[in-house]
Amino acid sequence: MHSFAIADLAIATAYATLGKAEPLEAAVHVARGYQRVKALDEDELASLFGLVLLRLCASVCVAARQQKQRPDDPYLSISQQPIRETLPRLAALDPSRVEAALRAVRAPTPEETLSARRRVIGPNLSVAYRAPVKIVRGWMQYLYDGSGRRYLDAYNNVPHVGHSHPRVVRAGTDQMRLLNTNTRYLHDLLGQFGERLTATLPDPLRVCYFVNSGSEANELALRLARAHTGRRDVVVLDAAYHGNTSTLIDISPYKFNGPGGEGAAPWVHVLPLPDIYRGKYRRGDPRAGEKYAEFARQVRNPAAFIAESAPSVGGQIILPDRYLASVYAIVRAAGGVCIADEVQTAYGRMGTHFYAFEAQNVVPDIVVLGKPIGNGYPLGAVVTTREIAASFDNGMEFFSTFGGSTVSCAVGLAVLQVVQDERLQEHARQTGERLLERLRALQAVHPLMGDVRGSGLFLGVELVKDRSSLEPATEEAREIVNRLRDRAILLGTDGPFANVLKIRPPMPFSDDDGEHVASALDEVLAGL
Ligand code: PMP
Repeated sequence: MHSFAIADLAIATAYATLGKAEPLEAAVHVARGYQRVKALDEDELASLFGLVLLRLCASVCVAARQQKQRPDDPYLSISQQPIRETLPRLAALDPSRVEAALRAVRAPTPEETLSARRRVIGPNLSVAYRAPVKIVRGWMQYLYDGSGRRYLDAYNNVPHVGHSHPRVVRAGTDQMRLLNTNTRYLHDLLGQFGERLTATLPDPLRVCYFVNSGSEANELALRLARAHTGRRDVVVLDAAYHGNTSTLIDISPYKFNGPGGEGAAPWVHVLPLPDIYRGKYRRGDPRAGEKYAEFARQVRNPAAFIAESAPSVGGQIILPDRYLASVYAIVRAAGGVCIADEVQTAYGRMGTHFYAFEAQNVVPDIVVLGKPIGNGYPLGAVVTTREIAASFDNGMEFFSTFGGSTVSCAVGLAVLQVVQDERLQEHARQTGERLLERLRALQAVHPLMGDVRGSGLFLGVELVKDRSSLEPATEEAREIVNRLRDRAILLGTDGPFANVLKIRPPMPFSDDDGEHVASALDEVLAGL
């Protein structure tokens, strides 16, 4: 009999799925093994899953007929119970997920991908996790690898409204099909995005500049501050990171005091991180905020103070009450301007407020936005006052080829609209509150969990070997993150000792997802 060779693979695959916890994963394994020996073409891959289902259906029909003829032969029904369990599960799978998973068997394996990357990409680009993750698809707070395995993304804040959010994708692709040019031509989207964005900010933050990344935005913010004050010196918080350009490395203690760094330049002044868990002034000191701010008094003639309004790279720090108000007052009295780096904290992530600086009851002179505002499309923004913008307008043109492009404005508008329409800030507040409570309950059981802190979907769990010496549990943090990765939960670490588990997911992250993270963390900690 002549037939299609794919039928062979379909039959083998059909039986390999039976009784498996992850039947699709089993199917992908078999297909990948086959593909290594004999290449599968597009048509074969497209038909494989349907043929698998058909085979199982055929088995049910054939067995029914045979059992009637030979009711005493138990072998005839050997597959029927497993089929009864597995077939409905296979049939219920999302066909596009199945198709993506099967198509991916023609793609290079993670090992091949890694070695290709090592051949052509600069060596100091790191890869997360001991076993690198190779993701082929994203959907809201989930990521999928080539075998169809679903990972819970509890870490990435760039896909703020969710990976591949359809409204953002549509806004970007529709506009790209029509027109994508720069800000030297008139286009309504530029002004519309500016209007919508400034409407989320308090007076007098009314003037926008659009660029392509958080780094570019911080770089521009420094230029604005320097143009406005005629000064150069910058005041920063310890352990901060503000971006990858030369100047931003110079103002990022996380980099210049880290491996390969050259220490602080004379024009950079580093203030202690206002960390009320580990720092000089601790939780329980009602004046910790003012006391930390006092360190700013030593700085003469600053052009700017720049800080994340909730230091994320510093270890998911929630600033003590009145810290920013006090530091801003000192810096302004010394003639400097105050820059809020909201690259990680903007757009409702903190739950209680749209921007983290609002929780500190201050209004910065310059606000820097990045990551979430384009949901993964490269988009950064600087918003400032009319006075500062006027100082910057000194005759030299400001232009960014891609910044404020038609497509980036279309994407930016869509993201902002989704944040508001889906009430994501309120969602982050409620979900974050419940997860924080759950994590605090775990803290009572696991001594390693020294501190649990955060706001909204900006949470941190600081791990310590000893709750009195606060010795950082850096190795343990790394181990936990890797074990969670093996359980398909993606988290990261941060803080000067890399001992803070960072929970900072896409905003659609649900209560069930939070429970999933908490119970997995509980088990991993118990097994450590
Ligand atoms: N500021 C902060 C607080 C950041 O976390 C980052 C990126 N991690 C940046 C600025 C730089 O942004 P980008 O990587 O988009 O240049």
